[in-house]
Amino acid sequence: MAEVTVKQLAGVVGIPVEKLLKQMQAAGLEHATEDQAVSDTEKQQLLAHLKKEHGQGSGDKKITLKRKSVSKLKVSGSQGRSKTVNVEVRKKRTYVKRSAVDEEQKPQEEVVEEGTLAAEESAAPEVDAATEAAVEDAVVEEAVPVEREQEVAESSKEQPEPTEQKAALEEVASTAVTTSSVDAASTTATSGSKRSRRAEAASISSTAKVDGKKLVAEKASKIEQGSKKKEADAGLQSTKARKEAEEKARQETLENAQRVAEELAKRGNKSEKPVVEQDDEDVLVKQAFEESIALEEKRTKRKKDKRIKAKILAKKSAQQHGFTQPTQPIVREVQLSDQIIVADLANQMSVKGAEVVKELMKMGVMVTVNQWIDQETAILACEEMGHKYVIRSESELEDKLVSSINDMAEQSGGAEQTRAPVVTIMGHVDHGKTSLLDYIRRSKVASVEAGGITQHIGAYHVETDKGMITFLDTPGHAAFTAMRARGAKATDIVVLVVAADDGMMPQTEEAVDHARAAGVPIVVAVNKIDKEEADPDRVLNELATKKELIPEEWGGDVQFINVSAHTGEGVDDLLDACSLQAEILELKAPASGPAKGVVVEARLDRGRGVVATLLVQAGELKQGDMILAGPYYGRVRAMVDENSSPIDKAGPSIPVEILGLAGTPEAGDQFLVVPDERKAKEVAEFRTVKQREQKLARQQKAKLENIFDNIASEEKATVNIVLKTDVRGSLEALQGALADLGNDEVSVCVVGAGIGGINESDANLALTTGAVVIGFNVRADSTARKILQEENIEIRYYSVIYDIIEDMKAALTGLLEPELREEILGVAEVRDVFRSSKFGAVAGCMVVEGSLFRNKKIRVLRDEVVVFEGELESLRRFKDDVAEVRQGTECGVAVRGYKDVKEGDKIEAFDVKEIARTL
Ligand code: GDP
Ligand code: MG
Repeated sequence: MAEVTVKQLAGVVGIPVEKLLKQMQAAGLEHATEDQAVSDTEKQQLLAHLKKEHGQGSGDKKITLKRKSVSKLKVSGSQGRSKTVNVEVRKKRTYVKRSAVDEEQKPQEEVVEEGTLAAEESAAPEVDAATEAAVEDAVVEEAVPVEREQEVAESSKEQPEPTEQKAALEEVASTAVTTSSVDAASTTATSGSKRSRRAEAASISSTAKVDGKKLVAEKASKIEQGSKKKEADAGLQSTKARKEAEEKARQETLENAQRVAEELAKRGNKSEKPVVEQDDEDVLVKQAFEESIALEEKRTKRKKDKRIKAKILAKKSAQQHGFTQPTQPIVREVQLSDQIIVADLANQMSVKGAEVVKELMKMGVMVTVNQWIDQETAILACEEMGHKYVIRSESELEDKLVSSINDMAEQSGGAEQTRAPVVTIMGHVDHGKTSLLDYIRRSKVASVEAGGITQHIGAYHVETDKGMITFLDTPGHAAFTAMRARGAKATDIVVLVVAADDGMMPQTEEAVDHARAAGVPIVVAVNKIDKEEADPDRVLNELATKKELIPEEWGGDVQFINVSAHTGEGVDDLLDACSLQAEILELKAPASGPAKGVVVEARLDRGRGVVATLLVQAGELKQGDMILAGPYYGRVRAMVDENSSPIDKAGPSIPVEILGLAGTPEAGDQFLVVPDERKAKEVAEFRTVKQREQKLARQQKAKLENIFDNIASEEKATVNIVLKTDVRGSLEALQGALADLGNDEVSVCVVGAGIGGINESDANLALTTGAVVIGFNVRADSTARKILQEENIEIRYYSVIYDIIEDMKAALTGLLEPELREEILGVAEVRDVFRSSKFGAVAGCMVVEGSLFRNKKIRVLRDEVVVFEGELESLRRFKDDVAEVRQGTECGVAVRGYKDVKEGDKIEAFDVKEIARTL
């Protein structure tokens, strides 16, 4: 072969000159420019180098290709976001040199002297280009299913990949730059099963030919063998399933190829195909390259197709698994308890907090997302927004526990027995409640009290001739109400203490109301009858007329007992009256089984921890019982009666003091004996959470403006106050002055009054009644301050009585509705009526008094009787619109909506003014 330049060689081979130069340099040739000549020996050297490089020269029978591809995969994640995942695929493929196998079997087949791999192609030189191309097409057609199979089995790295095959093709093709095309083609053939299939197909096609028919058949069978062997190789590492898939694909390919081949054979019979010159190396090389380029093109095309396919697939999968727009509004079920925070409500409806706030605003409820709303408001908002709601029982857990304990109590079979009545003493401050109880207990509780005000709820039981009676001493009805509010019905009978020298007082009235509301019978104790100024008949009269408490002597059912807490006169009668009342009530409770009852009071004792006064209502409380009281639980470590003597069990209606609770429950909290600690803890925790919620809700309510809001909604607005003063004189003076304030619309209500510092019970009273605390020359102690602060209760300190009166006046004035007063601004007489196309009837008037105003309201009077009230449509002087027309001037007036103005009518302009009222 003649010498060629580097450029020519590159042209023949079909690769860039630079690449060829690089390869030549690597082979140890000194070519640097494209114009340098390449001799045959140099070509051989290059070939040898390339062969070596690709593992041929050294006689390697295998090419191992390793490939690592890193790609990024976009997957659509939750909430429509997509994330990118790095995917690294490692592939390893070992190709066995086809020729090596052949060599062993049929060395005589070697046609080309150096072409160790040339056997196949050389044996079929007659295979014409058309056939080849057609077969190629068939193969390509087949490639798609094969590819799919491979995708399925992609996890297996050993799986022959078409792309890999193609890579191998390229590799081998470049090897073939300087070697014979036959070599390259044959390598290509061995490089993949597809190739072998192609050769196979070629062999089939060539059987139709006259020339080289037998040879080709032999070749084909060999290729088949080689291919089989290779497949077996792969099969060693691959799964059986994949093999089957492969087999199927191969079968299909075979069939296809056969079909094509048959067709080609028909064609081949008709036309003479040009025979490839075997020694024309350059042409062959070129052919090989053309082939590889065509393949490369197809590869990229397929890659592109694949990419598009992947995209479509990704899209499809995104549609399938991603977020789908709901076709109809989702109705959610909202769990509603007594109160709910707006944000929480929004959360449950899966909407933004602001939306709920907006909805509430539309309903006239102005709240922020962090505020509590009550159940009814929440229900409205919920319905408005198209969601369902369920009223969640806050106490589901508790109810379960309680009912299980009740069951237990029933099983343990405590038979109902008559129990002692629990009596609460109520009445106006200083009417002698504590003194009376004190007398009954024959101890001196009142004398040790600071400031003479009862500070704690005490509970005592006394044995009388007619049986036992349990007394609860409360600092007023507020505590009674508070206890009732917590669900405790501790009291069976109310003893209403009324001082005979003082008569019925506001708190006496309220005590009656509270007792009535609770459905508790009242026994009236008319106290201080030892006093000279005592007038028990006045008390009788007042209570009978104002509160409808009719004495038995008058035919009613209320027992009135005259007593004196100082002399003890009538006290026995009072106890008898209570016993009698109890008999009527037929009070019963089981005397054994697990105990339950109510917390009367609880305090933190520095030395002993939590000291709680409990009133057992049913069952028997024993030392060592695990009890749950309000949000706290604990084991009863010690138990004493009201005289501080230790006892180990307490039955119904017995008040006891116990140690062992973890915290101080509130008066009125119910307690019960729980069999196991775990349950007690569970419920205690639940109650703690609930309590916190309720407290937050209460804080909202207690704000002063809210107090006024709440008050304003009632018929008669009142400002509730808790009043504490330094001396009795100022207290009486203030109470009198405050009672005189107000009228039938507004008034000040002193819900609590007393002498001494503002203490915890005052604060609690203010809390339960929504009152403002007023301290006259007294201050709140630390516990009271804490409560006042926590609950946002307003407290004011004064040292001048007049200031209190003024401030209360102002507060009441604020509650008064402003007065609307009408003012007549002017009168005009209608002198003439004419028609206007624009306004209809226009009255020509003369202003006889004051002025007419364009924008003020008017009335039409006929014979001094109002016939119409409305507004002016226009007010003109001559042709000009004016805002005001004064007395003595003429004007044209059109009344909006009234066309019936007559001569002689009067038009009156008036204004309505809001006048703030004062007391
Ligand atoms: P409470 O605020 O209702 O508990 O009233 P107290 O028991 O603290 O009594 C108030 C004041 O009335 C005390 O100074 C008692 O001494 C006095 N007091 C109570 N009962 C009687 C009574 O029967 N006769 C007289 N003379 N004074 C009494
Ligand atoms: Mg008292």
